Amino acid sequence: MPYVNTREMLIKARQQKYVVGGFNIVNHTSLVAVIEAAKENKSPVIIQTSQKTVEELGYKVLPAVIKELAGETEVPVAMILDHGTDLKIIKKCIDSGWSSIMIDGSAFPFEKNIEITKRITDAAHAKNVTVEGELGHIGGKEEHISVDSDKVLLTDPEKVLEFAERTQIDSLAVAIGTKHGFYDTRYELDFNRLGKIMDMTDFPIVIHGCSGLAENDLKRLISFGPSKMNISTEIKHIYIDSCKKYIEEHPDEYEPVKKISYVQHQVMGLVKKYMDIFGSSGKAL
Ligand SMILES: [Zn+2]
Repeated sequence: MPYVNTREMLIKARQQKYVVGGFNIVNHTSLVAVIEAAKENKSPVIIQTSQKTVEELGYKVLPAVIKELAGETEVPVAMILDHGTDLKIIKKCIDSGWSSIMIDGSAFPFEKNIEITKRITDAAHAKNVTVEGELGHIGGKEEHISVDSDKVLLTDPEKVLEFAERTQIDSLAVAIGTKHGFYDTRYELDFNRLGKIMDMTDFPIVIHGCSGLAENDLKRLISFGPSKMNISTEIKHIYIDSCKKYIEEHPDEYEPVKKISYVQHQVMGLVKKYMDIFGSSGKAL
């Protein structure tokens, strides 16, 4: 299956009522784990890279490797820059072969968010790169994104259609009470708000901060019909925890490939679990 952007993938998910996972990778091991999970589960998949990962792994290498791996699979594979806030990085990703980017203008007031998002969307669409915007301000902390609880702004359902139409984005991340990072305290999800947002439009809606939600909450969120849900923190944790476990259990072993393979399988197991919960398993057939 060729490397694709997110357009058809997310429209189809909305129409057929399942969710495509956006899984953040940090290196080759986690990338292969996500793609192998998609292959085994016959699921469409979106590989997410943070700005930090892009700068760490390079602009040319990442899309080249992902395109090569996608070409060897039967499932659609898209790639997205997660939470693009640096316009230079976003533009470089558009020029370097990312199939999708997220422009996160959510720290700005409504009109300014529209202006920045529209400008990036025009540049992206000229190269057939799809765009995810953010309306409202999602809380929590993840790499360069840090939003204190008093700064969280839940998405106004009345503004969703206007934002989507004026910016021409392809999908929209909304703030409905999920947050980045793990949930160390009780959380409150605004299901009514999500319901209203979904009623406003048949546009693909994205939910961030899905690591560590209780399975019944995940299922309830999914029942409203979002097209994409993001998992990042949990991947990082299973990656580090399985590295630690392997080294603790094999203190005298100096064969890196065995450790890499172990870690890859642990990450893969987590991603496959989410593909099953999201209902995307078997949808790439
Ligand atoms: Zn996010």
